[in-house]
Amino acid sequence: MIDIYSTLKSTSHIAPVSEKELSDDEVLKELAAVRKRLGPRVVVYGHHYQQDDVIAFADVTGDSLELARHAAKLPDSTEYIVFCGVHFMAETSDMLTAGKKKVILPDLRAGCSMADMANRRDIDRAWSFLTKHSVGKITPITYINCAATLKSFVGENGGAICTSSNAEKVITWGLSQGEKLLFFPDQHLGRNTCFKLGIPLSEMVVYDPRRENGGLTAEQVSKAKVILWYGYCSVHQGFTPEHITMWRAKDPTRTLIVHPECSFEVTQGADLAGSTSYIINHIKAAPAGSKFAVGTEINLVNRLAAQFPDKDIQSLSPYQCLCTTMYRIRPRWMLESFRAIETGEPVNVIRVDEETRKWSLLALDRMLSIV
Ligand code: SF4
Repeated sequence: MIDIYSTLKSTSHIAPVSEKELSDDEVLKELAAVRKRLGPRVVVYGHHYQQDDVIAFADVTGDSLELARHAAKLPDSTEYIVFCGVHFMAETSDMLTAGKKKVILPDLRAGCSMADMANRRDIDRAWSFLTKHSVGKITPITYINCAATLKSFVGENGGAICTSSNAEKVITWGLSQGEKLLFFPDQHLGRNTCFKLGIPLSEMVVYDPRRENGGLTAEQVSKAKVILWYGYCSVHQGFTPEHITMWRAKDPTRTLIVHPECSFEVTQGADLAGSTSYIINHIKAAPAGSKFAVGTEINLVNRLAAQFPDKDIQSLSPYQCLCTTMYRIRPRWMLESFRAIETGEPVNVIRVDEETRKWSLLALDRMLSIV
């Protein structure tokens, strides 16, 4: 069962500006005009995976952590954050601004398929099974890509949050806290990072919430060092070892660089693996003439190719690996959000309740004290 909106309290859902009312060009023109009128009362955040028409209106672009950190430092004069990303990111910004800003997600259906693969009820059930059969303490670590209720679970149970940039440090800390680690929701980031830290695959098991007891025996739990949740990113799982083989045969001189949400086989086969920021910075710093095949979301890959025409930047996959939920944020939805702010009746305001916020912030603070 999915509980993506369990902590999300919103005013009524809005419909986008219709095509009958305004053409695409007219939407962009009005969007620019309303944006100007709203001035510094509003800040627009654009995640790296957004389409260009959305990024064109972003005051700040970044990955989920960079945007959340920016939100925490906003001046008092900023009243609204229009978050062009997905719901867990908007929740994180709401928590970090302590309810002093109104965080707006232009389309409430902009979720994250990976975040939706773990919910509080399933995590609670897993925790009671795992702690019953574990010899030694288990430390829970969650990837930031999850609902606030799971961040809260981690805070309540002595764990921390991580991002793809700091997963190595947070997991190292987690392993120092007890005998075992429960990592959710992304099995790939957990597996890739733990393996890099020297933990063999034989000491990792996967807990599948769709199966009784996660499909694990008490003995498997007791022997494992790391318990990985059966979750994945539908975008990054689209990159396969066949794509690696294809590029190696086609152009052995090209650097294959992938995000650690890709499978173990893909990250092992690539030349480099790292977070969105790592990929961007590596490509930026590479000399003219460098060639890359990049295993991450297609909007970002296309933008990098346009920004660095002196480098040959292609997608690792011949198919479009697009984050379809992120793609729900479109200029028509943004315009409706801006209009609602201007009339003083904002809609799609994301709010996390106080109890969830308290525990989630504890887990976030632990992460920030580690990295
Ligand atoms: S790219 Fe994957 S992890 Fe990121 S928001 Fe989209 S579905 Fe979620």
